[in-house]
Amino acid sequence: MTDSPIKVAVLGSTGSIGTSTLEVIDASSGRLQAVALSTHRRVNQAIRQACQFHPRRLVIADRDLGANHDFSALPVGTDLVAGPQGLIDVAVDPDVDVVVAAIVGIAGLRSTWAALEAGKRVALANKETLVAAGPLATELAADRGAKILPVDSEHSALFQALQAGRREDVQRVVLTASGGPFRQLTKEQLLHVTVEQALAHPTWRMGRKITVDSATMMNKALEIIEARWLFQLRPDQIDVVIHPQSVVHSMVEYVDGSVVAQLSPPDMKLPIQYALTFPRRWPSPATRMDWNEPHTMEFEPPDFGRFPALELGLEVARVGGTAGAVLNAANEAAVACFLQAQLAFHEIVPACRSVLEHHDFDARPDLQRVIAIDQWARKEINKQTCA
Ligand code: NAD
Ligand code: MG
Repeated sequence: MTDSPIKVAVLGSTGSIGTSTLEVIDASSGRLQAVALSTHRRVNQAIRQACQFHPRRLVIADRDLGANHDFSALPVGTDLVAGPQGLIDVAVDPDVDVVVAAIVGIAGLRSTWAALEAGKRVALANKETLVAAGPLATELAADRGAKILPVDSEHSALFQALQAGRREDVQRVVLTASGGPFRQLTKEQLLHVTVEQALAHPTWRMGRKITVDSATMMNKALEIIEARWLFQLRPDQIDVVIHPQSVVHSMVEYVDGSVVAQLSPPDMKLPIQYALTFPRRWPSPATRMDWNEPHTMEFEPPDFGRFPALELGLEVARVGGTAGAVLNAANEAAVACFLQAQLAFHEIVPACRSVLEHHDFDARPDLQRVIAIDQWARKEINKQTCA
């Protein structure tokens, strides 16, 4: 790595991961430089970010807003690009060193794909890409010499713990889960939870979709699938443990029984920075452990009965093929319906299972097939619920 700044494109800069990424860049004393930013619809926030970071390009993915909003406040030197093609142009720009893939949902797939095709280093927050198209994305990365660095805290923890031994000596990995806001509710109580309660996560502040996923534990299901493809693990090598404090971010168990964990307070700025600077480590703006305070760390097995998403995640990790794309799309659509009060909380996971069970399974889909089945699964959910 040279001393010239690392040029970073932040796709999804107005989201939770995006704003944390900009905090990391701001604290880097010029060693990281934001050269491109993007938003879907939060135009005013994006303009404020552009005024602070002076990127060369600002992409407004929503074409109408990009064409009709007042951009007179944009700084000189920042070009405005309207429409989703702008995300691809930024992702493949030769003058970008790292692409932060922080768009939520399958909307992040095409730009992440383009970055991998261009052989970029991709700091990947958008787990949906790996869930929907894991084997395709990792093959593409290997083929093009691209590197996927995980931003998801659990996968960053695994990536860090994997530096401690040889891959062939890994027995299994253990993903930690906070358990979300409903960890202690009974099955009966889960029938009556509200959108507001689902959005009140005990340890993490995140976007709405992933916050609901944490409440159903679908987030952990997606992370099982993400870990399977990212680290080429067998599904039976992936375990989940509930750890309400969210300090141990995940663990790798080696064949000799040694367990290597990564610890830090729940703050995404640490995994984001590690993905940007790996293999180097810099002082970071993330909150640090305070060892002058007492800490209690609890671990307990997950309850598959109350949180059926976990079993679904393991099943999908086992069968592969189009199952990941269907689960991901069905879940995105079901969560959107839940947020519009058109589906009850406890109906989200059964709705996903039902779409998964009657889909036309394909063991080795290509990208077009993945995109087509994603669209199909969304329509199926909407037929059942929001329609
Ligand atoms: P968010 O909702 O806060 O932000 C999403 C970003 O994507 C915004 O900038 C938004 O403008 C953009 N976006 C939304 N729809 C778009 C579209 N159709 N086209 C283009 N851009 C669009 O989400 P988040 O919590 O920051 O999560 C982002 C990704 O990171 C998700 O894949 C999530 O699973 C993953 N992730 C988030 C966290 C976290 O702490 N927030 C942790 C781990 C992984
Ligand atoms: Mg996570």
